[in-house]
Amino acid sequence: MAGSLILVPTPIGNLGDISPRAAEALAQADFIAAEDTRVTLRLLNHLELKKSLVSYHEHNKQKSGPQILQRISAGETCALVTDAGTPAISDPGEDLVRLCAEAGIMVTAIPGPCAAITALAVSGLKTDRFTFEGFLPAQKKQRRERLKALAAEDRTMILYEAPHRLPDTLKELSEALGPDRKITLCRELTKLHEEIQRVTLGDAVTYYSEIAPRGEFVLILAGRALPTEAPQAVSMEDCLEAVRLLREDGMGLKDAVRQVSREYGVPKNALYDAAVAKGL
Ligand code: SAM
Repeated sequence: MAGSLILVPTPIGNLGDISPRAAEALAQADFIAAEDTRVTLRLLNHLELKKSLVSYHEHNKQKSGPQILQRISAGETCALVTDAGTPAISDPGEDLVRLCAEAGIMVTAIPGPCAAITALAVSGLKTDRFTFEGFLPAQKKQRRERLKALAAEDRTMILYEAPHRLPDTLKELSEALGPDRKITLCRELTKLHEEIQRVTLGDAVTYYSEIAPRGEFVLILAGRALPTEAPQAVSMEDCLEAVRLLREDGMGLKDAVRQVSREYGVPKNALYDAAVAKGL
């Protein structure tokens, strides 16, 4: 019988964030596929686990992926980990999941740390609708097109960026989306030097033209503001119903009319006359 692939999230900076279930999955797996085996060894030492490790990363995935699949097909359970966070989010784990899924192998994911979601939650920007953009494309043409698309995006946007590219990326974003656009820069999340900056793109450009960025960053960008919706028209019947309910609660007619006219923006005298005509 075939084994399975388990996606095991690991801390993005604070070893205390490994969950009991994630640690158990690592302990139970027949082998662990890791992006950088040295990084994973540190985690395994912390958990006092000795496990068989294989390397699976961007530059060996074509060869390593089928080998892992073969072992799983033969009955082994593989735990997939990334250097930090949730496997398959902006890392080659995505390809291994697809390979296994296409081969009919059971794939399960343990929920846990993810830089994107941690940053979004702390951003102070709208979280009801958002889009994950990962890293911007490196190629000029695709990058220009992506920036253009982002300028039109009205949902909150999550981006990853490397520190050495941050100043240029901020400049490009400011040119495309405007210097007044709100941005939250989340640096070194869960680590000793965690820093959250809730600023505008213009401020961020100025700040990082004077200070060299250090550490890991997630950028959360506010979406384009939509034109404010016209207030919904309220009928006289709705207002009279509101007056009736207040009267039922014991409020005097004049007070009820004053409150409803203020809330719904209808002329007080007209509402009062209509209420009297209705015998309210
Ligand atoms: N799979 C990972 C996850 O679930 O968060 C993301 C992997 S991606 C290759 C690495 C990027 O995640 C970094 O370049 C940075 O943008 C972001 N990142 C990871 N850890 C972070 C942290 N502690 N603070 C801020 N950003 C972090």
